[in-house]
Amino acid sequence: MNFKELRLNKPILRAIAEKNYDAPTPVQEMTIPLILDGKDVIASAQTGTGKTAAFALPILQLLFDRQDASKKGKKIKALIISPTRELAMQIQDNFKDYAQYTNLVSAVIYGGSAIEPQIETLKKGVDILVATPGRLLDLHKQDVINLDYIETLVLDEADLMLDMGFIDDVKKIERLCPKGKQILLFSATMPFKVVQLANSILKDAEKVAV
Ligand code: AMP
Repeated sequence: MNFKELRLNKPILRAIAEKNYDAPTPVQEMTIPLILDGKDVIASAQTGTGKTAAFALPILQLLFDRQDASKKGKKIKALIISPTRELAMQIQDNFKDYAQYTNLVSAVIYGGSAIEPQIETLKKGVDILVATPGRLLDLHKQDVINLDYIETLVLDEADLMLDMGFIDDVKKIERLCPKGKQILLFSATMPFKVVQLANSILKDAEKVAV
């Protein structure tokens, strides 16, 4: 299978070609069509399997298709929650690369770093936000972030997120997003507590394992 068969459009295919990816990895092949169909997905995939592109490419495709012509007053439509600053930054780097031929804008926010520059970035308007849980809730409380327009929520490295004690934050973030959003949960391992979280917030989720 190649990326074209995955129903990705030209600006995204062009960005993939520049990355020199020949073909989708197994997790991409299985996950991308499900996400494009609007399904909730639980994927067990380790780092290194291409899991970031497995959610980033279809999210960009969906947002690209739904973009309104006005481009004014961008709203956050996709939210990716990541347990650590390093992972969050890597995810954002990927989104930036894959979105370079679209006018979709992504940003990353994380704790342990000055909040003002992050507020400035958010004020300019972003379509896709990558965030660590604490800083997201902090900025939401300060009314800098509006989650009312979220269409897709990604919980990345869910097992690590729960190990780090973010369960209540994650649940709170999920409740702050609109009902009916698409939820994608990625985890390297699937311990009971991850399954429990998935069962409590995902709807008729498709399961993918690599
Ligand atoms: P990840 O599992 O998301 O951390 O990705 C691991 C690495 O694989 C990253 O450096 C990606 O740029 C790369 N990658 C993702 N998808 C592909 C692909 N289809 N072909 C080759 N490399 C890829």
